[in-house]
Amino acid sequence: ATKAFGMSYDEVKRRRSLPEIKQIEKKLASIKDVDQRMIKIVQMYNSEQAPTLEEIGRKFGLTRQRVHQILKEAQEKGLEVARRKPTLGHWIERCKICQQMRKLAARQPLMTTRNIAQTLRIPTWKVYWHLNKLRARDLVPPHFGHFRSERIIEAIKLYNRNPSLSAWKLGQKLGYKNLPALFRELRRRGFGYLLVPRVGNAKDTHSAATRRQGRRISTRQQGLKRKTA
Ligand SMILES: [Zn+2]
Repeated sequence: ATKAFGMSYDEVKRRRSLPEIKQIEKKLASIKDVDQRMIKIVQMYNSEQAPTLEEIGRKFGLTRQRVHQILKEAQEKGLEVARRKPTLGHWIERCKICQQMRKLAARQPLMTTRNIAQTLRIPTWKVYWHLNKLRARDLVPPHFGHFRSERIIEAIKLYNRNPSLSAWKLGQKLGYKNLPALFRELRRRGFGYLLVPRVGNAKDTHSAATRRQGRRISTRQQGLKRKTA
């Protein structure tokens, strides 16, 4: 057995692995040209959180296009770049992630995208992908996965839980420079329905957004109260 094909086993092994070794050497040589930034970008892209190209770009001060270009270069240099193609033929009713997200939205609509990703144990890019489908069909409330910071969500919850506390005082407690301005911005963007109106504040109680949203809001607010109680 050791002398099959007129060669020793060791020789066969050595010969067979030669092209592989050459390939590895080639890879190593090209990796030497790879700069640290490229490695970091690839690592971030491949990471569990699977950030979008925009998110990576923001971190490194690059455009989305440049990040894409760097990832392509990295791949050409032999670095492993994760593939991220959403599955074709997506049906919301049959999609497990969409169903999970709808349940989550009904139970706890005030969540960051990152929070949804962590709860469902899926990368954020997947959350965005399915969330866009759900939003397009108005199957989740607009604030579900909308806010980036957990701090503002906490501020909204505390504001609703403490009717006697003004936005200004709450802001001071939480270390906001100007929470009332932030809340005004929320109202301007059509999220006024998330804030329980304060007695004596006509702007709150009769805002167009509140009237437009009608019954859906009151159930949401109940959901909020139940959740935070
Ligand atoms: Zn889906």
